Amino acid sequence: MIVGIDLGTTNSLIAAFGKDKPVLIQNAVGDFLTPSAVHNNRKNGILVGQAALDLLTTEPQNTAARFKRRMGTNGVLQIGRDQFLPEELSAFVLKSLKADAEKELGETIEDAVISVPAYFNDIQRKATIAAAQIAGFNVRRLINEPTAAALAYGLHAKENESTFLVVDLGGGTFDVTILEMFSGVMEVRASAGDAFLGGEDFTDCICSYFLKSLGYEEDGLPNADHARLRALAEKIKQQLSSSPTANGVFVREGTEYPLTISRTLFEELTEKLTRRIRLPIQRAISDAQLTPAQIDRIILVGGATRMPVISNLMTKLFKRFPEFDLNPDHVVALGAAVQAGLLERHKALEEMVMTDVCPFTLGHDISRILSGPNDLETGIFAPLIERNTTVPVSRSHIITPLRPGGRHLAIDIYQGEAPYVKDNIKIGSYNVPIPYNPKECENVDIRFTYDTSGVLEVLGTVVSTGVVSKLIIERTPGQMSPQEIKQRFTALERIKIHPRDEIKNAALIARLNAEYENTLGQQRQSISDWLVTFEIALKTHDKREIEAARKAVEEHLQFLSGSNAFE
Ligand code: ADP
Ligand code: MG
Repeated sequence: MIVGIDLGTTNSLIAAFGKDKPVLIQNAVGDFLTPSAVHNNRKNGILVGQAALDLLTTEPQNTAARFKRRMGTNGVLQIGRDQFLPEELSAFVLKSLKADAEKELGETIEDAVISVPAYFNDIQRKATIAAAQIAGFNVRRLINEPTAAALAYGLHAKENESTFLVVDLGGGTFDVTILEMFSGVMEVRASAGDAFLGGEDFTDCICSYFLKSLGYEEDGLPNADHARLRALAEKIKQQLSSSPTANGVFVREGTEYPLTISRTLFEELTEKLTRRIRLPIQRAISDAQLTPAQIDRIILVGGATRMPVISNLMTKLFKRFPEFDLNPDHVVALGAAVQAGLLERHKALEEMVMTDVCPFTLGHDISRILSGPNDLETGIFAPLIERNTTVPVSRSHIITPLRPGGRHLAIDIYQGEAPYVKDNIKIGSYNVPIPYNPKECENVDIRFTYDTSGVLEVLGTVVSTGVVSKLIIERTPGQMSPQEIKQRFTALERIKIHPRDEIKNAALIARLNAEYENTLGQQRQSISDWLVTFEIALKTHDKREIEAARKAVEEHLQFLSGSNAFE
């Protein structure tokens, strides 16, 4: 069985293709969404999901979130007493989803389709594959998130022919994709996006505003207080999606600070971010050679599209209302499972075909000789695969070294749309060995192959000898070698993971601790009492007693949050 996984910045989900449709799988606490957060506690082991997210506010030093944004950067994160790469943290999330699927499906799961933002670059894609391998997965395909969303919608399509625009604003990334559908064939026409723009940036704006209004510098609060203020900013941001003003109380050192913000002010503070959303939309439309009027359906995906500013922007640009038929939190995982079904040649999907594109231009650097051998213009970008070419694609051209007598030809690979490489993203450095020839320049044929997962392979062929070398990245920060992946896989196998059947209890304790820090007075006293009662129940090691106590506390909590006592 192949599963489909949405490995998000904020939330991750896993699904499988059932009898005739994709089906989401629940995690250990009974939710479809598993927060992409990891808590490291040597005593109890690694904890993933909602419990870890709650612990982020009470034990920020032992907890990590939003690490997808750092995938492929080589940055090590200190969590508790250990250090982890972002790939390893993602691997913990993937491992936990894997355990959920294995429990539900009753078999060992290895094969997976994993979704990535369309605008993820080669390094970020390879980092995602590395994370999956560390978690024990065999990645059958990476699928672009908006493409996955369109697959899920395509399965439900009533009309036979239409042009879709998918806008996916998640926690950390933004993608726009235009697709055409005709009799079961779905074809991506263009994708554009911003791999560093998401709902989290909107939360940061509110957090900065609150810091300022409380009289603190940007980094003026201790970690734990900052984490709590940010969690409050997140809650308030979500409230603003359904009401014109939102407020909350920030508790610090026994004092309550009421905070409030209006939607109008929020939209003013985040105007710069909203402006960044327009650009990729315009580019995708012009690349697809369409006009806004030719778009039949607008589909919003990703939690952050719940902000009214996004649907208003779409309505203004396209003069029609966007669709929300499928849950924007679920649709990418469902689509990844449809892709899994397609790879399994599932009978229910016989009529369906999907093609995708490479959303950005890939090329390398060259130099040009101007008036003489010492007068060079360097760092010019030479595109080889142009953006929005249908994948898989393979393109090559011949390049000539500047002078004879070299033993290597060095090329740097870049992704981007700027004429000079300094303004594009470097994704690797390569060295093609060439035979020593003091008299003549040895020409080299450079071939880029971009596969259906959006992963790039580069080959260099010396024209005179026909010797082909598969180019290995020499100096890319953040790229893991196969040996390193293996090492990390073995290392992770040894790390203690919190027992799955105790996750519900751990999650409840994390939640109670977070609520305790957030409240004062009578409420705080009640929470403390429940915490103690629950800890006592845990000590009995009696499953039934523990479950009864957990249910009782959960009901109390629900009652309190239902009566808005925590707002
Ligand atoms: P990812 O795919 O990156 O994990 P999601 O699609 O789960 O992201 O979206 C997460 C983002 O959506 C977060 O930034 C979160 O704050 C935001 N979000 C969720 N619900 C709302 C809401 N009601 N209003 C505004 N933003 C929301
Ligand atoms: Mg997402």
